Amino acid sequence: MNVELSKIKEDLLRTDCAYETYSCLGLRMRLLYLSIAKYSHLVKIIEGLTTTALKLRLPVSFLFKKTVFPIFCGGETIDDARKWFDYLHQRNISAILDYAIEGKQEEDAFDKALKGKLALLKAGAGHPACRYFEFKVSGIAPIDILEKISAGKSLSQKEQNRWNKAKERVDALLKEAINLGYVVMIDAEETWLQPAIDSLTEEFMEKYNTEEKAHVYTTVQMYLKKSPSYLQNLLHKFKNKRKKIGVKLVRGAYVLKERKRAKEKGYPDPLWQTKEQTDQAYNNAIVSLAESNNVAEACIATHNLESIALAWKLFKENHLNPESFWMAQLMGMADFLTCNLAKNGLPVAKLVPIGPVREAIPYLLRRLEENSGIHRQFNLELEMIKEELRRRNC
Ligand SMILES: Cc1cc2nc3c(=O)[nH]c(=O)nc-3n(C[C@H](O)[C@H](O)[C@H](O)COP(=O)(O)OP(=O)(O)OC[C@H]3O[C@@H](n4cnc5c(N)ncnc54)[C@H](O)[C@@H]3O)c2cc1C
Repeated sequence: MNVELSKIKEDLLRTDCAYETYSCLGLRMRLLYLSIAKYSHLVKIIEGLTTTALKLRLPVSFLFKKTVFPIFCGGETIDDARKWFDYLHQRNISAILDYAIEGKQEEDAFDKALKGKLALLKAGAGHPACRYFEFKVSGIAPIDILEKISAGKSLSQKEQNRWNKAKERVDALLKEAINLGYVVMIDAEETWLQPAIDSLTEEFMEKYNTEEKAHVYTTVQMYLKKSPSYLQNLLHKFKNKRKKIGVKLVRGAYVLKERKRAKEKGYPDPLWQTKEQTDQAYNNAIVSLAESNNVAEACIATHNLESIALAWKLFKENHLNPESFWMAQLMGMADFLTCNLAKNGLPVAKLVPIGPVREAIPYLLRRLEENSGIHRQFNLELEMIKEELRRRNC
């Protein structure tokens, strides 16, 4: 079956279902957010002001609650988010649950974060939309230890004990999630933490994945020059082990941070030089994953029109299984892609972060920082929102 890319793109760009949950005011708010996020300098100023306000314990939560929180988060509790799960399920869209607490680095905070994640898992279990769960290892494990392991340094006895506790938390989370029927995706983070996260994820993929099913997915960031060979090695390794591997494929969220650190510390930039090189690597990886569908399950996590159109084409042409090759977008991002994929019968999920507003602020700031690197996508979305405002005459 030969599927035309131009026809797919036409179908992906329809606006009628994309903004149905937005009021005119909501659409204007989104337009304002996207316009702000386009400017990296403005984003830095907002980040600085917010971080200071949080340190001074000023009541900034209210501001976030009324502006960006409803765009990017499902709610403060699972009960708030339930209306989103119903909405997604009615439209054949799955939900990826994410407990949006970041940045706390004490053992107590890790235990509290674990408790929150476990409670979320239990509360979502049984809802037909809630099939996926994702988390950041650094939310329940100390960053200094992840960094030390990643740099190949040995740990003191005290650090080893803290690392063992962190691994126990990760294991407890995976075990509970899998028992409740979720597929779990472990996020990719900064390159100075990632080697530790990669080996931990591989260890747990080996433990929990079977020949038939990937219960645990790793995340591969294709903006890294080393990722094409890393991905090929992973596919090869798991094929030999006769285990399914799960791969969430992303471009990568930390362009500015990665480049800044490489420059400051004087090591070679780990990222591709240009966006086009990242795009090429990403699209090649989609093809590899589609061709390896007997070994790999894949979540094509992107808001990029070209990549989504390619994934759609390969899904149809290769008659792929919707349980093992699917697409995903973040809540508040590229809603037109998510709804048009679902409308056309393609398997797709939305990542729905949940958590108290104050605790979710680091997540929202990161989203703003991440978003400030993706101008082209914004321009497309800006145009679509303007078109929708014109269509509604508001
Ligand atoms: C469901 C989901 C889960 C995600 N989980 C993670 C995760 O675990 N870890 C993570 O890091 N990210 C994660 N992301 C975010 C992702 O990595 C991207 O930051 C985001 O999706 C934007 O990329 P894009 O493919 O959607 O869109 P596009 O707008 O096409 O691409 C933007 C991306 O291109 C790359 N880029 C931009 N400029 C350059 C340049 N000059 N040189 C090289 N590359 C460049 C960057 O990666 C940038 O984010 C996730 C995204 C989704 C949808």
